[in-house]
This record gives sequence, C-alpha cells and structure tokens, in this order.
Amino acid sequence: MQLYNTLTRRVEPFAPADGTTVRMYTCGPTVYNPAHLGNFRTFLFEDLLRRVLRLNGWKVEQVMNLTDVDDKIIARSVQQGKTISEVTVPVTEIFHRDREFLRIEKAEVYPKATEHIPEMIAIVEKLMSRGLAYQAEDASVYFAIARFPGYGKLSRLDTRQIRAGARVAADDYNKEDVRDFALWKAAKPEDEQTGAAWDSPWGRGRPGWHLECSAMAKRYLGDTLDIHAGGVDLIFPHHEDEIAQSEGANEKPFARMWCHGEFLLTDGAKMAKRVGNVAGVEELRTHGISAAAVRHFMFSVHYRKQLNLAEESLEASSNAVRRVGDFAERLAAASGGTENMSSIAAELVESATDAFNDDLNAPEALAALFEFIRMVNAELDAGGTDQKGLDDARQAFALVNGVLDIVPGEPELDAALSSWVEERLTARREARARRDFAVADAIRGELDGRGIAIEDTPQGTRWKKVR
Ligand code: AMP
Ligand code: ZN
Repeated sequence: MQLYNTLTRRVEPFAPADGTTVRMYTCGPTVYNPAHLGNFRTFLFEDLLRRVLRLNGWKVEQVMNLTDVDDKIIARSVQQGKTISEVTVPVTEIFHRDREFLRIEKAEVYPKATEHIPEMIAIVEKLMSRGLAYQAEDASVYFAIARFPGYGKLSRLDTRQIRAGARVAADDYNKEDVRDFALWKAAKPEDEQTGAAWDSPWGRGRPGWHLECSAMAKRYLGDTLDIHAGGVDLIFPHHEDEIAQSEGANEKPFARMWCHGEFLLTDGAKMAKRVGNVAGVEELRTHGISAAAVRHFMFSVHYRKQLNLAEESLEASSNAVRRVGDFAERLAAASGGTENMSSIAAELVESATDAFNDDLNAPEALAALFEFIRMVNAELDAGGTDQKGLDDARQAFALVNGVLDIVPGEPELDAALSSWVEERLTARREARARRDFAVADAIRGELDGRGIAIEDTPQGTRWKKVR
C-alpha cells in the first residue's frame, strides 16, 4: 500500500510499525456547531483510509478526539449564556448521528479534551523542564519555537519568518504568525464563567487547542503514531505545533506518516462556518439525498484534489448509486451466472485493490466497479446456471462495496427514487407546456420502466410505485 506523506511530500510505501495494528490519530470536530459537509469530506476520507487499511489485513486502532474546549466554544457559550458542556454535549450527539447516517465507521476511541487535562499538564511540565516552554508576563505558558530545531518541517515554513519571542495566543492563526504559541492559557473571566478553567502549576487556566491532540494521541496510541490525519488546513499551525509539543516532550518522532485531505468547496470557496456557505447532513437528508450518494460524490474525486459541491453532482451521484442498488438486488436474486463472471470478478478485485492501495484512488476503484456492473449485467441478461461465476461475482462486489459502501438502503432508495420521479415529472410538465408530446410520452415510458404509474389530475400529476 502506498500513501502520500505530507512530511516528505512523496508517495511512500506504508505498513504499520508492528506489522499488525495501524495506530492512527485523526483530528476530530470542534463541537460548537454541527459538523458541515466540508468536515465530513475529511472524515469520509479517513473512513476510506481505515477501510483500505483493513482490506490489507491490518487491524486499526483509530482515535478521533472531540475538541470540547477552545476559543470558538467559549465565545459561543458566552453568547448563549451557557457552560461549555451545555454547548458541546448536544453537538456531540448530532455529530454521531450524522456520522452514523454517512456510514462512517466508529473509531475505537473518541476522547474529549476536557477529560484529559492532567495529561496535558504533564506535557507542559515536561516541556518546561526541557527549557522549551516558558511562562510569560500574561501568566500564560508558551512554546519557545526557536529552541526546537525541527519547527516548520511539516509546513515547510521559511524559517526567516520565525519571530522568536513574539507570541500568539489564538488557537488558530495563519502562516504570517510564526510565533511562540500558547500551551496553557491563563484563565479569563469568561473562561471561569463558562466552566473552561482548571488548576495547574501555573495557576488557573485552560489548554491551547494544539496541546489537546498531543496529549490524547500519547495517552491512547503512545509516542509514535503510524498515521496522523486531518484536513489540509490543519498542517499549519495545528499539526506543526503538535509535532513541536510531542517531539519536544517525548524526544521521539511523533508520526511516521502525515495524511491530509483537500477541501470541499462551494462555488469555489472553502466550505467553512465563518464563511457561512455551509451545508449539513440534515439538509441533505431532508432533500432525500442518500448516504450512499454522498459517499459516491465524495469518492468520485481523489482526496488530495479539491472538490466542488454542486446540486448537479449530488444528483448524478444519486443516479449512480441507484444503479449500484439495482445491481446489488439483481445479483442477490440471481439463481445462476456464467463462467465468464469469474474472470470479470477477478479483474474487479485486482483493479480496485490496486487503485485503493495506490494512495486511496477511489475514483479509479469506482470506475472499475461500474465497468464490472456493466459486464455482469450483460452476462446475467444472457442467462446461465453457473454457480461459481455467480459466487465469484458476489464476493468481488462485496469486497469492493465493503470499502466504498455505496448501496442505498431501502428507505434511502425510496427517497432517492422520489427525488428522481419529481425531477422527471417536472421535465414532463415542461415538455407538455411547449407541446412537445413526444418527449412527454418518452418520460412516461421511462417512469413506467421503473415501475412508476402516473395519473394526471386537476391538482397536478400524482404518482405511485406499482412494482
Ligand atoms: P474543525 O471542526 O473545524 O476542527 O474541523 C474538523 C475537520 O474538518 C478538520 O480535519 C478540518 O481540516 C476539516 N475541514 C474543515 N473544513 C473543511 C472543508 N471545507 N473541506 C474539507 N475538510 C474540512
Ligand atoms: Zn489535532
């Protein structure tokens, strides 16, 4: 298996250090607002990664943290007159509901930052004792980046930009702010008021965002991870600062492989809460878009390329997975196949596995799957009684769909079907309005072909599924 490593900027062979279990840390959501589809693009890329690792026969020990204390959460809590947990607990529930809807496999552990404060303090103490951290006049503790020689190696910062001694307290900042960053922030009145302050050797305060991940990664996975993953926006400062803290404290490489997924865009701009161009899982569900369609859409472009969310592409994905669903039903119901199906199946297994192992090339695996569906459908049309061919086809399909997971479920199928019917009925109405009866009739035929009967009434066209 090969993966692109952001640290070396190269595609490299990958295997877990101990040969059996992949220890993987994936930065999780900041739970102040339900995660949007941009966040879920990253979580789906990590789901794909997880499933492909298992396809290779390895076990996976995945940790996904829940950031339940940070600048944004505190600001939201103050605004709503709540404590941080009153804000984060309901949002965490929504996260898991949405995650399950999208069939994102459960990680082994979902640790919360607020439940690991002692582990964070221990790291800061270690950094203090090694001379890599200091308490400033504002009572907060900062990491001294100039004393850590590897600073900037992940994000390839031009070291001349580094402003040693200058400090930045915000959790999130940009590349112009290459300064000493906060490990432990002295408590402010709003922190106390929202329940976001703890005792420490440096007085009351709270952890910086980056420290959370270093502490929870060490607690659950040890000093050196096999894989650390997240979205590209985390490379700097978040992951750069995690490396500084973890390697500064543990004196061991923090992660062997750094994997970053590209952005989901809407109308060419990064989907982000602060931009306001976000779409959530709930919205998709109410529009009858199935989880299978979302997964197909996200996997139709390689994870290291940007992907634009457009209504047409979700519609195309809904149509594509309907074909997969129809095929799955047909394959399950078939009583026999052909000998040819064995070699068609072998070809799918080989090309899809190669694609997955080639830096998670899901679009290529999808292409192989659709080619397989086309060919097997033709074999089934011909009819046959070969049992081995049928079994091989079923197994190959299950293997590839076990990674992609793009067969719509029954209720989803209905939702996807009804959005398709509505779309066809609109097209038919438009055709009739321009007196193009040939097209209108063709659409009626199309609907009939899918078992949909329609009836024109004074209130409009009614439809129902008759078979
Ligand atoms: P956050 O909740 O902001 O901490 O983000 C959770 C994860 O979503 C991180 O791995 C981010 O890199 C990722 N992320 C945020 N916005 C996007 C986006 N528009 N497209 C893809 N991933 C994103
Ligand atoms: Zn993190």
